[in-house]
Amino acid sequence: MKSLDTLKFNPRFADLGNVFSAPIKPTAVEQAKMVICSTDALALLDLPPSAADDPLLLQLASGTWHWPQHEPRAMVYSGHQFGGYTPRLGDGRGLLLGEVLNTAGEHWDVHLKGAGLTPFSRTGDGRAVLRSSIREFLASEYLHKLGIPTSRALCVTDSETIVWREQRETAAMLLRLSPSHIRFGHFEYFYYNKQYGELERLHQHVLNDLYPECLTAAEPLAALLTEVVKRTAETIALWQAYGFCHGVMNTDNMSILGLTFDFGPYAFLDDFKHNHICNHSDNRGRYAFNQQVAMGYWNLTAFAETLTRYVSIERLQEILDGYADIQQQAYLKAMRARLGLIGEHEADALLIDQLLVQMDQSGVDYTLFFRNLGDLPAAQALEKLRDEFVNRAAFDEWVSEFMARIANDTRTQEQRREEMHAVNPLYMLRNYLIQIAIEAAEDGDYAPLHKLHQVLSLPFTEQEGCAEYAERPPQWGKHLSISCSS
Ligand code: AMP
Ligand code: MG
Repeated sequence: MKSLDTLKFNPRFADLGNVFSAPIKPTAVEQAKMVICSTDALALLDLPPSAADDPLLLQLASGTWHWPQHEPRAMVYSGHQFGGYTPRLGDGRGLLLGEVLNTAGEHWDVHLKGAGLTPFSRTGDGRAVLRSSIREFLASEYLHKLGIPTSRALCVTDSETIVWREQRETAAMLLRLSPSHIRFGHFEYFYYNKQYGELERLHQHVLNDLYPECLTAAEPLAALLTEVVKRTAETIALWQAYGFCHGVMNTDNMSILGLTFDFGPYAFLDDFKHNHICNHSDNRGRYAFNQQVAMGYWNLTAFAETLTRYVSIERLQEILDGYADIQQQAYLKAMRARLGLIGEHEADALLIDQLLVQMDQSGVDYTLFFRNLGDLPAAQALEKLRDEFVNRAAFDEWVSEFMARIANDTRTQEQRREEMHAVNPLYMLRNYLIQIAIEAAEDGDYAPLHKLHQVLSLPFTEQEGCAEYAERPPQWGKHLSISCSS
């Protein structure tokens, strides 16, 4: 095990120089305190759980101290926001504090969000608030537990420095980890600025350090797009399977590694609702739950556009054309597992769609339906679940198709339950639970947040005394509107 001041660095992005990022120091806050720390994420840096209490971590995560051997840097990028191109965005409040190489040889960017003004702050104040930092912390660590590719969160700090949003709030910071912070928007920035030399250096870095397997392909950049399409499709497939609504799928929030990244006003569905819009300011529903697959494709075409000098349009289009099928196959795989379907049948997609249409009509809880389906033998479970559906005749019809589909399942109920429970969480990161934890934290009580994080760290395992975390939301908690200010 190591300590924060004995880590090994691998400044591969920083070494690209000042055209790619601006060296800038964090602006410290007053009276910083540790709010929550993920011991799982500490382990990624070879740090023991006790590092959560290391005063140096608090200093690092509140902008008071940084590694002397690594200049903090704000990255430059641009991006399409809600379909329109913004020529320069960049890290307006985040800094890459260091690029760590752990003993397993893994590379982790350590990024501090809320670290103060940078050359890219535009009209912003360079700060983040407690509620959005907690939200990102919880979601990153939870998605990881569900097996959904994501950036990670190491800790959140709060302070007595005041920032103004809709109301007076305190400046908080999130220490985030990711193998890379490169977004589609990095490529767009150099492409639209016609800085082709820099664009090519970016390609070299991404190929060498993130996608070395593409280097030996006949057309490495075509191979890169193929891989990015695949990873993006697979990640979004899992969002759909688990009811995750990202909320701000702008190209500057799309990770080149296909990770879930840059969480805004995200939400996990409580009741299943196809066209759920979680972002308060997304008034046209561009990033509604049922638009995410299409928006993933749209974003990939924006990325592919930046490759048009290097790969033929026909080849790029051919690769992009693979997206829908990869996405659909990954989605079906996840949904079959959630429903406990063995093998693959042609009609599975229809069976799943028909169920979702009914869940949508009836407002059925998206998490508990699958969990309950595995709890008892299918016929019994469905008999109980039937009460939740408004159109009983349609549901009965679906049940008979489902029962026919699983007729050849030879597993014991115990095996079936075990396999289904391993993919169907009991505890869901529900908006209302987050809200309760945030309100307590804003009053200085971090216990509810710690407890929530702890329960959610084993989403598939029933935990004693935690029944309340597995309940459907109360009425007030169902339609919380999440402000996109952060
Ligand atoms: P986001 O919506 O958080 O993905 O941010 C979009 C862009 O706005 C990025 O360039 C951010 O760095 C920038 N940004 C967001 N909030 C702030 C803020 N409070 N201060 C400065 N820049 C910000
Ligand atoms: Mg962003």
